[in-house]
Amino acid sequence: MKIGIVGLGLIGGSLGLDFTRLGHQVVGVARRQATCEAAIAQGAVQQASMDLQALSNADIIFICTPLHVIESTAIALVPHLSPQTVLTDVGSVKGTIVDAVTRHWPNFVGGHPMAGKTEVGIEVAEPHLFAHRAYVITPTAQTPLAAVDRLATLARDIKAVVHTCSPAIHDRAVAWISHLPVMISGSLIQACLQEPDPQVRKLAQQFASSGFRDTSRVGGGHPDLGLLMASHNRQEVLRSLTVYQQQIQQLMAWIEAENWEAIAAQLTENHHVRPAFTQSAPAPDTAEP
Ligand code: NAP
Repeated sequence: MKIGIVGLGLIGGSLGLDFTRLGHQVVGVARRQATCEAAIAQGAVQQASMDLQALSNADIIFICTPLHVIESTAIALVPHLSPQTVLTDVGSVKGTIVDAVTRHWPNFVGGHPMAGKTEVGIEVAEPHLFAHRAYVITPTAQTPLAAVDRLATLARDIKAVVHTCSPAIHDRAVAWISHLPVMISGSLIQACLQEPDPQVRKLAQQFASSGFRDTSRVGGGHPDLGLLMASHNRQEVLRSLTVYQQQIQQLMAWIEAENWEAIAAQLTENHHVRPAFTQSAPAPDTAEP
């Protein structure tokens, strides 16, 4: 199969490493010559170019650019596509992207491989990044079934676990477990900065250990991450933040009222339900409505 990848960073490069290993013809397009050279040197692609023309006659093209340029990349690709070319993307928000790109290329199917790292760029791309991780495919009623099948087959070939759901359901689910944590974690750092006494603030920084490191990690990552989540998944991020705000208000009310029983009951429930979020091996090929 001829596979095109536009955007040779962490995700595009890692997909390229796996597809190359599986024997596909993998052609990459990047915006900088240095990225093209690095991708070839790492074995992520066999050919790389800064010209989208290189992807003509591809069977499937993965758009692996940042969220805010996925639609413009698709528009630029269209003149180079054969009618049978399946277009897909790897963006971590689906609703707005699937709507927009489908208007330009009906043979499009949205996707989200749910694996990543704190660092980005071709240098940190690695093989097997997606093995045993969820790969969410988000067709609509208009998406050609053959496009879904082609993407699902490739995702399974790289040992990912395929889930299928609507773009809207995807965006609501990832708001809870990915976007809300980034907002809360960033707000935690901001709250600590509001300590008015500089000596106490300094001591807090010196005392911070694994608990603070864990809870502040995603909020202290690359600034574009949170910004793109908030702007592209605005409605679902606001919905989850509203529920979180109510949760905090409830907790404050219990502490003010010294209602230790209610707090203990909730902490006990948290202790029991957390593994359902953190230890759940992705169920094989589950389909959501
Ligand atoms: P990345 O490592 O920074 O790679 C992004 C790639 O896009 C790079 O090749 C970069 O080119 C290129 N690019 C950046 N800005 C561009 C622009 N304005 N126009 C054209 N190309 C541009 O990022 P990534 O982590 O792979 O993320 C790529 C996509 O994967 C995003 O849509 C993200 O939502 C999705 N995703 C990320 C993760 C994650 O954890 N990182 C997980 C799942 C999905 P240069 O090499 O020239 O900089």
